[in-house]
Amino acid sequence: MYTIKKFLKNMVSTNSSFNEKRERMVRAQLIARDIVDKEVLRAMAKVPRHEFLPADLWDRAYDDTPLPIEEMQTISQPYIVAYMIQALSIKKGDRILEVGTGSGYQTALLAEIHEKVYTVEVRAQLAHKAMAKINELGYGDRVKLHIADGSVGYEEEAPFDGIIVTAATFDIPEPLIKQLAEKGRIIIPIGGTDAQTLVRATKVKGKLIKEELFQCMFVPLVRQEFENN
Ligand code: SAH
Repeated sequence: MYTIKKFLKNMVSTNSSFNEKRERMVRAQLIARDIVDKEVLRAMAKVPRHEFLPADLWDRAYDDTPLPIEEMQTISQPYIVAYMIQALSIKKGDRILEVGTGSGYQTALLAEIHEKVYTVEVRAQLAHKAMAKINELGYGDRVKLHIADGSVGYEEEAPFDGIIVTAATFDIPEPLIKQLAEKGRIIIPIGGTDAQTLVRATKVKGKLIKEELFQCMFVPLVRQEFENN
């Protein structure tokens, strides 16, 4: 007979195997590379990546790879997510904007580290699903989700000290530059579907100072003003 006791035991062992895989992921994929930010490592060890994936991908949830989610979008490779958050250098009291909520995984990590996170997703269905998961995991109070084209930023909540964009575009959208505070950082993949570079730009005296971080591959940023033409 399948008793409640057995069910709970199973659940605990499933969770502890995910915990182990997550710890291994942190050691082998993050610490072994160049992720040193203690808060980023703590969040990566805590937030359950599998919960943001369809159940048939749970056994690959802690692999060193991006994975597909609904609507032909992807959840980024754990290392890239950790790298982007580390590159943002979040400080207490910073206003943080994420463009491209997707599964909500990166949003949850940001909320684990920081008290308030603004996130914009253009695909309503993905946004609702992500927010349900964020609420279920207890991060709801820390996250404000806006369903809209994030290439125009989030004017009502600007300025931001950190902006993280999880979809690629050929140039940094002007509204995002405008909504960046002085000394604010934006992390954004720049390029087309064949070659992209992850860029960090910092606003100094109103001008952007750009650094190229590394080659990457993200889904394209939807620009509604172009698509409608
Ligand atoms: N950080 C996400 C990765 C999402 S993939 C995660 O951890 O799962 C990129 C996301 O950007 C997709 O969900 C896509 O719908 C969204 N996106 C693309 N263009 C956008 C735009 N203009 N505004 C807001 N979101 C956009």
